[in-house]
Formats: sequence, C-alpha cells, structure tokens
Amino acid sequence: MRDMTDFQRKLSSFLPEIELRFEEPMAKHTSLRIGGAAEIMAFPKNREELAKILKTSVLLDSKYVILGAGTNVLAPDQGIPGLVICLKDCLDGMEQLDATHIRLMGGVTMSRGAGFAANLGLSGLEFAHGIPGSVGGGVYMNAGAYGGEIKDVCESVEVMDPQGNIRRLSNAEMGFSYRHSILEETGDIVISADFRLTETPSEEIWARMKELIAKRSASQPLDLPSAGSAFKRPAGGYAAALIEQAGLKGFQVGGAAISTKHAGFAVNLGDATAEDMRQLLRQVSDKVYAASGIRLEPEIRIW
Ligand SMILES: Cc1cc2nc3c(=O)[nH]c(=O)nc-3n(C[C@H](O)[C@H](O)[C@H](O)COP(=O)(O)OP(=O)(O)OC[C@H]3O[C@@H](n4cnc5c(N)ncnc54)[C@H](O)[C@@H]3O)c2cc1C
Repeated sequence: MRDMTDFQRKLSSFLPEIELRFEEPMAKHTSLRIGGAAEIMAFPKNREELAKILKTSVLLDSKYVILGAGTNVLAPDQGIPGLVICLKDCLDGMEQLDATHIRLMGGVTMSRGAGFAANLGLSGLEFAHGIPGSVGGGVYMNAGAYGGEIKDVCESVEVMDPQGNIRRLSNAEMGFSYRHSILEETGDIVISADFRLTETPSEEIWARMKELIAKRSASQPLDLPSAGSAFKRPAGGYAAALIEQAGLKGFQVGGAAISTKHAGFAVNLGDATAEDMRQLLRQVSDKVYAASGIRLEPEIRIW
C-alpha cells in the first residue's frame, strides 16, 4: 500500500466525518471507463458536507473538480492530483412544488427526474429521459436532445459558490446557450433546479419517452462506453454527418474509435487510454476541417 500524501493526511484530519477515498480510479466513475486515479475523491452526503469540503479547500488553498455522473468527462491517464468531489447519489431528492413546478436535486439522474415528472403528469422533460447524466451536470452544460434543452424548462437554479454560500439564479441569470451555462465561468455548483412544466396525461408523456428511447437504441452505440456526442454541433452542419462525409466512421486511434453505428460518438473499444481518445478527437477535427473547412470542437469535457 502507498504512503498517504500530505494532502490526503491533511484533508482526512480536517474532514474526519466525510467519506474520502484515496487513489480512486476515475475509470470507475466515468461512462468512457477511462482515467487514472484521483488523489482524493470525496463523497459528501448532503449540502452541509459539501459546504464543509469547499470551506476546507479554501482554507488549505487546494483545488478541486466537481464530478456528476461522469457521462461527459474524459479524465487523464495520469490521474488527478488533488480533490475530486463526486456529487452523484449525494444531492438526492425530488419534490412537486405546485401544480406545474418540480424541484430536482443536483445528484438525481436526468432519467429519474424525467420519470418523476411523467408520473406526476407533467410534460417538458421528455427529452432528458435518455440522457444518462445528473441534473447538476445537465444544468451546468444545458443538456439537450430531440429539440428540447434544459434552458426551455428550467425556471431557477439553487447554487453553492466556491466559499460554500447558497444563492438562487433565475433562468436569465444562468446565461444558458448551446451546451453552456454561466456556471462554467463562476464555478458555482448546482444544488437543485426548479422546472416549470405543463400538465399532460402521464400515458402521453411515457409514450413519447419510450419513442425517444427507442430512437436512441436504434441509432446510438449504447453497448460501448462513450460520453455521448463527441463534438458540439457546428454552425452550418451536423458533426456526425461531417465525420461520415470525411470517411471517418470506424476511424481508430489505439482503443478509441469513431462508432460505426453513429459517427457522432467516440467509443472506447475496451482498452482506450485518455491519450488515444484525445488523439482521436484531434485527428478527426483536423480531417473534417481539411475536408469541409468546418472546425469541430469537442463536447466532451477534457480534464
Ligand atoms: C450514451 C450517452 C448519451 C448521451 N446523450 C446526451 C444527449 O442526448 N444530450 C446531451 O446534452 N448530453 C448527452 N450525453 C452527455 C451527458 O450525459 C450530459 O452532458 C450530461 O449533462 C452530463 O452530466 P453528468 O452528471 O454526467 O456530468 P459530468 O460528466 O460528471 O460532468 C460534466 C461537467 O459538468 C460539471 N458538473 C457536474 N455536476 C455538476 C454540479 N452539480 N454543479 C456544477 N457542475 C457540475 C462537471 O464539473 C463537468 O465540467 C450523453 C452521454 C452518454 C454517455
């Protein structure tokens, strides 16, 4: 067993009551199944524990990164020095606020949140049913699919700033745009989000969600580890179409490849490293640029 690092020793003495894992493989916590060990991974059980971790980080002048369900992250092979705060399963809870509003905690998966809304007969989150991330990650990056986006239904977001203070941001204050929110600049953490939905018979909502799930399974490589769409949609085209037109379906670097089923997905064939995936994304972007003059930018968050 390796000796504890100074940081591991210090953090465990400051936070004895919080679940901390040392040298925790990121590959266990990312849908791409890639990534070396996090020096420390913290699993706060509630917002109080999260605030305590953030305040301790300020005190120790240490950096941290926030991990939701890990479905949009490429973690480095050499691991992550410092602290990863894992919020999936931590910020849990869903409630109906009134006839048309619900509150979902940041650690709830979007699929579960959409199912909760559907059972209440509230429409608007159907698009999110097949997105495997957490509400926190979805709000952070304004997740969307099949014509719907978080920004269309999210009324406000309760956030915690890096000092551990809570405040509420309106939809306008969230600065939502395509796969982006203001949180990317502020570093605020999503605690919960309120959604304004429309009363609709439950069966209609479930029927629509089943239809969208069937579309996903028919077109997406759900049997292989991925992080969803590898590239953002560029102005004037679709990433998948441009990649296919450049002849790159199945293009491979090491264990990372462009899916043969859906050219918009980069998949781990089994033993891909983060470096394979980075090279794949870079080479595909360059080849598409050479073929079409359009530059693809990764949608996957490369850590
Ligand atoms: C098979 C598959 C299909 C997908 N389909 C779609 C799709 O249709 N549409 C779509 O938009 N995406 C899709 N994705 C990508 C992914 O699910 C979404 O981007 C999702 O919103 C990421 O959420 P997460 O909890 O996994 O975030 P993570 O991957 O854990 O993190 C992503 C970013 O969000 C930040 N973050 C996470 N939680 C919080 C929080 N509570 N507060 C502040 N910041 C936070 C992280 O720091 C990181 O920068 C798909 C992924 C897969 C694997």
